[in-house]
Amino acid sequence: MTSLAPPAAPSWLAAPMSALRAAREQGRMHHALLIHEAPGTGGDWLATWAAALVLCERGKMAPCGECTACRRVASLHHPDVSWVRPQEDSRQIRIEQVRELSAELALTSHGGGYKVSILTPADALNRFAANALLKTLEEPPARTLLILVASEPSRLPPTVLSRCQRLRIRAPERAESIAWLTELRGTGDWAAALDALGAGRTDPVAAAERWTRSQLPLRLLCFENWLTERIRCGESGGAHLAELRAGPYLSGPRPFLNIRELFGLIDEVRDLRATLDVPLNRGLALEALFRRLAPAGGVRDGVQG
Ligand SMILES: [Zn+2]
Repeated sequence: MTSLAPPAAPSWLAAPMSALRAAREQGRMHHALLIHEAPGTGGDWLATWAAALVLCERGKMAPCGECTACRRVASLHHPDVSWVRPQEDSRQIRIEQVRELSAELALTSHGGGYKVSILTPADALNRFAANALLKTLEEPPARTLLILVASEPSRLPPTVLSRCQRLRIRAPERAESIAWLTELRGTGDWAAALDALGAGRTDPVAAAERWTRSQLPLRLLCFENWLTERIRCGESGGAHLAELRAGPYLSGPRPFLNIRELFGLIDEVRDLRATLDVPLNRGLALEALFRRLAPAGGVRDGVQG
């Protein structure tokens, strides 16, 4: 379940969100947005939020996160929102997909309002597909919102870029992402959640499934930042990094990993983030990562975290 309620909004998205909200209130919403994100920082999340912004049933409160439209957008089941991604066997978005999209946008919306199409990653549009998209960008049907999410927009033709309003997502500071992760989790903290995995009290399969269902790229980025912070805390704790690398455990109420393992985990998280746009079984990769945290002997009780 993806929540669009304000507490789940990452702080580093505040600027583009308020720009969009202002545009909506002043009736000058652009028909095409290009969300330029640092990889894994929430471009798809922001696109989903923007879709809810124009489709929400509560006008001034939009997106309220509670009405039927908002909930459908969040669960990816809104009939007036379509997602265009590279298909299973391809790394490209192809011309047939763009033609389908244009035909779909030409139809009347189910709800009588906006029709939204989200292309992600838009830098996967091949040359023919980008050219086909141009026609829709030049002459969009009324009440259309096209959202392109890209980490390398320079791969797109200038003719496409010039017709989109650009929104930039900066990469979050470490402290920001840790604060967001903590908020996302609700009760407890990340140290406790990961200690629970480490002590075998959390099921890696269930945890992996939960992560892949909700905001995986953001969670991974924040997880990486959390690990980095953990190493940094170890360093500032007085011990030299070299000594820490030699084997002792990091300080903390319930330490569970030594510094070498932490660095290994960071590498794995980075590898996983780098392959997010590749159609792999992410659940399995994540499960393997979590199993590295869990000791032999496995799961003792139910699911948390
Ligand atoms: Zn709503």
